[in-house]
Amino acid sequence: MTQPSRILIVEDNDRNRKLFRLLVSNMGYECLVAEDGVEGVRIARTEQPDLVLMDIQMAHLDGISAMTQLHADPLTGHIPVIAVTSYAMPGDRERLLAAGFTDYLAKPIDTDEFRQVIGKVLAKRHGDS
Ligand code: MN
Repeated sequence: MTQPSRILIVEDNDRNRKLFRLLVSNMGYECLVAEDGVEGVRIARTEQPDLVLMDIQMAHLDGISAMTQLHADPLTGHIPVIAVTSYAMPGDRERLLAAGFTDYLAKPIDTDEFRQVIGKVLAKRHGDS
């Protein structure tokens, strides 16, 4: 019996957090949530999730800084981080991938794309691509 993958959602907007949590739970994954980047980094260190969904625009610690902290830490540097941003502009995807994100999702979320991208990143991580 395999354990379900554990996904950490770092998102400061209540409605988005609830929506992502619902989608992730419905996909059969275990869900962890953080309301800002500081909490996200702390939970990633202690809980060692398989994947992080990282909002970009957040108070205290924005998503790019939080991802950079995760990658700089040997405890969390291996965890893939998907950027989730509401300010989708041309070049955003390239900019965020170059910053170190594993993949990218634009808000408002397309639920099919959401499922596809998460499934793809987890499959790559588990080496069963
Ligand atoms: Mn936000």
